Amino acid sequence: MARRKLIAGNWKMNGQLADGIALARGIAQEVKALGKPACEFLVCPPFTLLTSVKKALRGSKVALGAQDCHFNAKGAHTGDISPQMLKDVGCSYVILGHSERRADHGESDELICKKAAAAHAAGLKTVICIGETLKQRDDGKAIEVCTSQIMGSVPSDSTSTDTVIAYEPVWAIGTGKVPTTADVEEVHAAVRKVLAKKLGKGNANKMRILYGGSVKPGNAKELLSLPDVDGALIGGASLKVEDFLAIAKNSGC
Ligand code: PEP
Repeated sequence: MARRKLIAGNWKMNGQLADGIALARGIAQEVKALGKPACEFLVCPPFTLLTSVKKALRGSKVALGAQDCHFNAKGAHTGDISPQMLKDVGCSYVILGHSERRADHGESDELICKKAAAAHAAGLKTVICIGETLKQRDDGKAIEVCTSQIMGSVPSDSTSTDTVIAYEPVWAIGTGKVPTTADVEEVHAAVRKVLAKKLGKGNANKMRILYGGSVKPGNAKELLSLPDVDGALIGGASLKVEDFLAIAKNSGC
């Protein structure tokens, strides 16, 4: 089953207007230079940069995404942003359930599932993040944790068109530590099995499962050539045009 790789940048809480525009322009230019890339590209800046980055990406094949959304369309939710608002400023994707949101904001699987359903209803694609802590891995519970997160946070009517899964071991995010390729392969294969159980084989076979956690130009090739790894969700290295593009090129994009 051929799945088009997705190379996604999660800029997190980084970038003021000038940096964000320069980064987006640089990425757009380099992606254009690839001609017809084999991969799909996505950048997810902070909310404050979405409109300017959208303009900077104009005419390029780089999609725009946000890093979170509320499950309601509008109303009394101070500080929140709705899926409809994200659509309105040109987003086609939203990251949901990142481990930093699960940890910093106590987001539960149930809440993430509600957000994902609302995002899908508004016409957004979701990148739903899962992944175990170091303690859970050391206790031999990585697959159990990921299974439970998928069962709880992925809406049961999700399809391969509106949903991407990102496996991000919490202990690998921003640490420079990466699981062995055998461990990545084991979890991704297990995730696809769970997706088949939840969403049917057709969706599971077509759904992209990204790896995230300290992806760099130097390790991209071996991680992204694993059979069930369909791209990467990249934090730190997505803030530099040359690193983001090197990851893509090293992954055959
Ligand atoms: C992330 O936060 O999604 C991530 C993968 O970060 P990093 O690449 O910096 O580990």
